[in-house]
Amino acid sequence: MRPASIRNLFLLLALAVLTPVAAVAQQSSSAYGPLPVFEFHSGFWINLHHTLYYEAKLRQAPPATAQKGNAKPLIKLNTMQDAATALSPAERLAWDSSVAYYAANYANKDLLFNNDLILLKNQLGDFEDCDELSGTRKKTCDAGLPPKLTRILEAAATVYRAHLWPDQDRANRRWVARVAPLIEEQGVGISERLADIYQTKWPKAKIRVEVSAYANWSGAYTTLDPLRVTISSTDPRNQGDEAFEVLFHEASHGIAEPVESAIIRECRQRDKAIPRDLWHALIFYTTGEVIRPLLTTADKAPPITEDAVKPNGVSPGRKETYIPYAIREGLYERGWKDYLELLTRFWQPYLDSKATFDDAIARMVSAL
Ligand SMILES: [Zn+2]
Repeated sequence: MRPASIRNLFLLLALAVLTPVAAVAQQSSSAYGPLPVFEFHSGFWINLHHTLYYEAKLRQAPPATAQKGNAKPLIKLNTMQDAATALSPAERLAWDSSVAYYAANYANKDLLFNNDLILLKNQLGDFEDCDELSGTRKKTCDAGLPPKLTRILEAAATVYRAHLWPDQDRANRRWVARVAPLIEEQGVGISERLADIYQTKWPKAKIRVEVSAYANWSGAYTTLDPLRVTISSTDPRNQGDEAFEVLFHEASHGIAEPVESAIIRECRQRDKAIPRDLWHALIFYTTGEVIRPLLTTADKAPPITEDAVKPNGVSPGRKETYIPYAIREGLYERGWKDYLELLTRFWQPYLDSKATFDDAIARMVSAL
């Protein structure tokens, strides 16, 4: 174990004392373990990258107008302007030019769909244990990024490490500690159940989860090949038990391909237009339904009915019932109402073992 790792181990031990979770042993100084199913990272460069992107977005579209074109406003995150200790003029200049670079080059691009941003994110994840990206002091820390970008990130890193990173790292670690007991108890069972439902195998390797103060506009996103989840530790939609559902929803992006293929196949056979997002509504619905009984404190989780579908998941008198994400966040209300009906009528029987996978998909597509 290297000195840096020993320091971080002490941090984690301190955390374990503060919380009932013994998330101690770790693969690297930024990773957590040993938890089943997921491998959590609070990586310095990934967090810096997303913070720069967030501040560039803010600069480009002030909060009042940021809602336009987005289903949800940007979350309110502490920026460098809110840093507890004042920045020196040199630090201010370095940070501002890095944000300006992100505003000019990345803020208009989507973290989930833009290939440059995906590759950059993955590369920064792989170099999380490096203090630099240029390999000037340590050859193995040459991340191979374009020289200008390396300079921008390294200049911003000094400011970030001094002013924002300690708080963000703490928030990330708190978030992992909060969700860890559920993963410990239920993670394997849920992963097996979801893989069964999607008629596939859960990945053998643990799924890497980048825990970041900011993720993207939706609070979490998943990129494939390699399968990696990025999740915001500060987004209000990802807090408490809800974090557990968001994690499994995101992971499902990596295993639900058979559903998407089956929907496309059935549509082609029937000469029907392929419904946009039906597969996505399906994985929201499925994760919610699989997890709901575990997180519901009442004796029994009542079935989802139309009356449960209220904007923002406000459902008076059913507090003891866990409200799945798609209902809570009003996703069905915003254009997926027909999908919810299809899923309740034709997909739920499959979840209840009263229909086969193929029949459920075929019936959903016929009813479109
Ligand atoms: Zn999704």
